[in-house]
Amino acid sequence: RQQMARGLPKQKPITGVKQVIVVASGKGGVGKSTTAVNLALGLTASKSVGVLDADVHGPSIPKLMNLKGNPELTDNNLMIPLTNYGIPCMSMGFLVDDAAPIVWRGLMVMSAIEKLLRQVNWGSLDYLVVDMPPGTGDVQLSISQNIPVAGAVIVSTPQDIALLDARRGAEMFKKVNVPVLGLVQNMSVFQCPNCHHQTHIFGSDGARRLAETLGVHFLGDIPLHLNIREMSDRGQPVVVSSPDSPEAEAYKKVAAAV
Ligand code: ADP
Repeated sequence: RQQMARGLPKQKPITGVKQVIVVASGKGGVGKSTTAVNLALGLTASKSVGVLDADVHGPSIPKLMNLKGNPELTDNNLMIPLTNYGIPCMSMGFLVDDAAPIVWRGLMVMSAIEKLLRQVNWGSLDYLVVDMPPGTGDVQLSISQNIPVAGAVIVSTPQDIALLDARRGAEMFKKVNVPVLGLVQNMSVFQCPNCHHQTHIFGSDGARRLAETLGVHFLGDIPLHLNIREMSDRGQPVVVSSPDSPEAEAYKKVAAAV
C-alpha cells in the first residue's frame, strides 16, 4: 500500500528467487560485468546464485561464463537457464545470433527485459545477481521498479569522470528506494609484474571517498590485473580459475561484504 501511495508500479517477485542484487555502473567499460560474474562466483561458497544479464544491447555473460546455445523450454514455456561453474545464467545472448546487431526500439527492449525477468525457470535461488546495462536509463529504472531489489552494488574506477556517473547511479537507486549496498572500486592499482612498482593508473581512492560522501559502504578494491582480463576473455573468471590469487581474493572480499 505504501508503494501505491508513492505512485510506484506494483512490484512482483521473481518466482523462486529470494533476493535480487543488481550490479550497476554509471558508464560502460569500468568492469561491471566482470565484477558481477566474480561476485556471483564468490557468493556460491555459501548460497545458491543465478546470473541474469540485463544488458540486452551488449550481453557479456555468455562469453564471461563460457556459455553458448539456446535455452530449452519447460512444459509451461519457461526458459531453462544455461549453467556453468554451478551458476544458472540467462542472457539475451542465448536468444540472438552472435553477429546479429541488436538494434531495437525502446518498446522492444522493454519486452525483452520483461521476458528475461518473468519467463525464466530459475528453480530455487538465494541470490539472483543482475548485470545491469551501463547508465541510468529506462531499463535500469524499469527493473528497479518492477521487481523487489534487495540492493545495488555500484562499480566504478577511481577516475573523476567515472565517479560522476557512479554518483548519478547511486542517486537513481535512492529515488526508486533501492538500497545501495555499496561501491566497488575497480582497476584501483596496477602492480608491475617485474619490479612490483604500484601505479594508480586511474587515480587512487576516488570511489572510497565517494562512498563516504554518499554515506554508503565501500565494498573493496579490485586491482587492474592482466590475469583478470585474460581469464575473463577465456570464459574462466579468476574466482574459479585462480581462486587463491590476490585478485580472486579481492572479489571474494567484496562478496563477503555484500
Ligand atoms: P563493463 O561491464 O563495465 O562494460 P567489463 O566487465 O566488460 O566492463 O570490462 C571491460 C574490460 O575490462 C574487459 O575486457 C575486462 O576483462 C577488463 N577488466 C575489467 N576489470 C578488470 C581488472 N580489474 N583488471 C583487468 N582488466 C579488467
